[in-house]
Amino acid sequence: MAYLTRDGSAWTPEYLTAIDASKCIGCGRCYKVCSREVMHLHGVDDSGTVLGKVTEDDDDDFDGELNRKIMIVDNSGACVGCAACARVCPKDCQTHLAADRIAA
Ligand code: SF4
Ligand code: SF4
Repeated sequence: MAYLTRDGSAWTPEYLTAIDASKCIGCGRCYKVCSREVMHLHGVDDSGTVLGKVTEDDDDDFDGELNRKIMIVDNSGACVGCAACARVCPKDCQTHLAADRIAA
């Protein structure tokens, strides 16, 4: 399949497929630049177990179990492969997959 920009130039989408939980600092930069709601902030406990999605008010400490927050790719199918999230990540913890490497 060929992918093109508006002027017809070749373009290969780079889809976000995963975020390394051990490296992510939950800064939220990727979420802010993404227009597709592909990833969301989640709370994790001391052992790294995911406690759930962080709510809008951001006051939820998950009954005292919260250790830190990380970004999780929970809507990967919505990604358009713009790679904006990769450009703003300060921890180089994202994995992207080129569209031409995904089996049709
Ligand atoms: S590649 Fe673009 S669309 Fe996909 S998750 Fe990153 S910012 Fe969102
Ligand atoms: S920009 Fe990088 S470090 Fe920050 S929340 Fe996103 S994946 Fe994690």
